[in-house]
Amino acid sequence: MEYYSTNDVNVKATLKEAVVRGLAPDRGLFMPERLTSLPQAFFNNIANMSLQEISFVIANTLFGDDIDSEVLKDIVYDTMNFEIPLVYINENRYSLELFHGPTLAFKDVGARFMARLLGHFNSKNSGTTVNVLVATSGDTGSAVANGFLGVPGVRVFVLYPQGKVSKIQEAQFTTLGQNITAIEVNGTFDDCQALVKNAFMDSDLNAAMKLTSANSINVARFLPQMFYYFYAYAQLAKRGQDLNNIVFSVPSGNFGNICAGLIGKAMGLPIKRFIAANNRNDIFFKYLQTGKYEPKASISTIANAMDVGDPSNFVRILDLYKHSHSSICADISGCTYTDEQISETLATTYSKEGYLLDPHGAVAYRALLENLKSDETGIFIETAHPAKFKDTVERIISDNVVIPARLEAFMKGKKESVKMPATFSIFKNYLLSKA
Ligand SMILES: *Cc1c(COP(=O)(O)O)cnc(C)c1O
Repeated sequence: MEYYSTNDVNVKATLKEAVVRGLAPDRGLFMPERLTSLPQAFFNNIANMSLQEISFVIANTLFGDDIDSEVLKDIVYDTMNFEIPLVYINENRYSLELFHGPTLAFKDVGARFMARLLGHFNSKNSGTTVNVLVATSGDTGSAVANGFLGVPGVRVFVLYPQGKVSKIQEAQFTTLGQNITAIEVNGTFDDCQALVKNAFMDSDLNAAMKLTSANSINVARFLPQMFYYFYAYAQLAKRGQDLNNIVFSVPSGNFGNICAGLIGKAMGLPIKRFIAANNRNDIFFKYLQTGKYEPKASISTIANAMDVGDPSNFVRILDLYKHSHSSICADISGCTYTDEQISETLATTYSKEGYLLDPHGAVAYRALLENLKSDETGIFIETAHPAKFKDTVERIISDNVVIPARLEAFMKGKKESVKMPATFSIFKNYLLSKA
């Protein structure tokens, strides 16, 4: 199957080209040319299938033409080897816990899949090093760095805004060594993202070295996130729940996660509607209200992985809905919450329900509390373990948060980073010195 650019349907790429390039040559994002509907028999049987089995059916539908089925199966089974439980909270509300992977955040799914796929594509032209550039507002860096750690022929440069990610997050990508380099940028996440985007467009850099992106602009990162929407459905089916009015509430930053869910719906997953839950970075919320997309500088919040002022996957949503504002509004509603509202939800849910949210999950859960109708079944995506935001969460709940052993282990490593201003020419020269 081919992939086309959101800027021009005539700009096409194979899966391998799309994965290796990241961004299309015309700066568009790649989209799959066909969204094949999954057969009814698959849905009839889905309650009896494991996460790995479900994921493989979807992966095979998307990538089956381009990768040998046994290889694809290995990649999928190796990527999806941790639990993603659907946890009942109250009334008609559930949490889809996506924090049981190696770095305790949902980005493990896409990052691990992409690392394995790129490793597979690159194994055939051994000798050439692929350089992965990734801008992170927190969790992307750790998931990507850990997903790619030790993958032969791949080097990873993680750019992050100095002082704007939590200590635990920082430890997860600055202490690894080997093929992982952390770059500490004196600026915001948007500055980091701009440095990376400019690098992909720079002809000197592209002539000197092979560059690719592991942000959710990469099809190999964003599409696999669809797996767990189907698995959530399977778990509801297994519990014998009503499957007619399912609503997903997704804490959104760059909109890769929700976009994967929307594509899942387009491939036949019966989801009634989505809620794009935002912190104070309300660009998408405003778009829903006004039909105008006006990117802004990002605002720092306690749900910092969603501090995005110009969500890169917005163009994919436009493309999927053929630029129709009314079609987008029919499937997606929005909401935006302040730090005070996020804190209040987190504290109340902990004291009343005994369920500890992380600040991002709290945004999505609040959206269900405020918007879900009584005949709907609401699933919010709990995108990270609360211990990843220990200081913030402890301050809010006035209680201790136990750090899982896996996270603790990262904190013991020695931090190493390259400090840099948010100036493209300096970043460019640094990369050239590594070519
Ligand atoms: C990245 C991230 C988000 C936002 O996901 P997008 O796909 O960028 O919308 C939400 N929560 C957490 C914890 C994240 O790391």
